[in-house]
Amino acid sequence: MACRVDPVVVERQVAARLLSPNFNRWAEQAAAAGHCTSPIRLTGSATTLDKTTGEVLSTYSTTGEPDGVLYVRCGNRRASVCPSCSHEYKGDTWHLLAAGAAGGMKGVPESVAAHPMVFATVTAPSFGPVHTTRTGQGGLGRCHPRRRVVCQHGRPVGCNAVHADGDSRLGQPLCRDCYRYTEHVVWQWHAPELWRRFTITLRRRLAARLGMTQTRLVQLARLSFAKVAEFQRRGVIHFHALIRLDGPASAVTGEHPFPVPLVDVPAEVLADVIRETAALVAYDAPPASDGEPGLRLRFGKQVDARPVTSTASRDDGREQSRDLHPETVAAYIAKYATKACEEFGLPQRLRSPEAAARLGVNAHICRLLATVLDVASTGGEHYAGLVRWAAMLGFRGHFSTKSRRYSTTLGRLRTARKRWQLQRLRGESCDEGTTGWQDDDPAEDSTLVLSDWALAGIGWLTAGDAALAATGSDGVRDWRDAKVRTRSHPSTSARTYGT
Ligand SMILES: [Zn+2]
Ligand SMILES: [Zn+2]
Ligand SMILES: [Zn+2]
Repeated sequence: MACRVDPVVVERQVAARLLSPNFNRWAEQAAAAGHCTSPIRLTGSATTLDKTTGEVLSTYSTTGEPDGVLYVRCGNRRASVCPSCSHEYKGDTWHLLAAGAAGGMKGVPESVAAHPMVFATVTAPSFGPVHTTRTGQGGLGRCHPRRRVVCQHGRPVGCNAVHADGDSRLGQPLCRDCYRYTEHVVWQWHAPELWRRFTITLRRRLAARLGMTQTRLVQLARLSFAKVAEFQRRGVIHFHALIRLDGPASAVTGEHPFPVPLVDVPAEVLADVIRETAALVAYDAPPASDGEPGLRLRFGKQVDARPVTSTASRDDGREQSRDLHPETVAAYIAKYATKACEEFGLPQRLRSPEAAARLGVNAHICRLLATVLDVASTGGEHYAGLVRWAAMLGFRGHFSTKSRRYSTTLGRLRTARKRWQLQRLRGESCDEGTTGWQDDDPAEDSTLVLSDWALAGIGWLTAGDAALAATGSDGVRDWRDAKVRTRSHPSTSARTYGT
């Protein structure tokens, strides 16, 4: 809800909705829109025709709906904007990642699970020590155990604290004056380029490891990537990626869209080449201001690369295997797909570090923001674009990307779901487990849907509707039950909003 509304008014609106004759249909609509925070209201109609005969199979119109509208999800990926839609996006991301890792769903065959696959995490280098958690022997370790030494600014260079998970100091530099903010911002700005070079170099190194030319490798195999960018507490992103070896493009057919590689590469070897490549790749960034030297950018020393196998440790009895299970990795990556800068409390349109500070954003992040704006003004053409990405602290890449051939696409998942929602609203029988989630090809469909929609507005009609929708399915059911009770016991109608 955008603004504060008098609770008494909200309560009255809730009561009016609950007592409305078509409440059940409204509740169905709210459920179909996933109890979205701010759904899109449409008016219009859809007619389904048989393609060959032109016979009208069914019609749906919003004129018969409560308030004469159809509610459609807002589709926002940010958890802070719409928990429901961001949750759905996360689910979709999981499905496409899991499909690419384990196969056997969304049109990706189970055989992909046998391709060599590695889960890799590449980080940014250090730009100066920050408060951190360490896991030592016997639990959490000290942050930066050091004797009493101070930096040139008179601040201790060590920290003997054992920081708990929610400690606000985590991710903050031990000394903000020592921290290399410009380097941090320059690295973040060029991180997508560094990643691109990583993928190119990886192909080259893999060919070299297998003792063949790159041209030969292309004839035998191809690398597929699915990656997400995650913000660390210190305000810099790192990349998690699923890297899989597939058969060559020449072996791709309609029947076999995911062919096996024609060269034998154990996942451990692929992991090793990934580690080697991450340590090797570099990019010479243009100077961030006149007269300063450019910076040679690299990934951090912490590179984690582990084989992903569907027959991971727990089945084969190997103790302490480092192998990962595909579903675990997919869940891990999907978790980050909806996290953007919002955990720092940066609104999408952020104007100044001062405004951020007033919103309670921590001093380190405010300083990063100030540096982003500084570099944008001093760095010339190479850095002018930074302003647009200030709220992302200078990260301009996508948070979630994958190779075209990795798995199914979010678009196909969404199309399938929209068709299912429309079918359901028209009252046609459909089973969520199959019809709605099939990765079906619309071209093969024998029906044609003619639709005509107009935007009626955005959001729930009243604050009361929004409050009802926000309680989700269980909440709406509770309200409905309460409504039944209200009918028999008028005195219980004093139930207040929010309880
Ligand atoms: Zn939504
Ligand atoms: Zn510390
Ligand atoms: Zn210092």
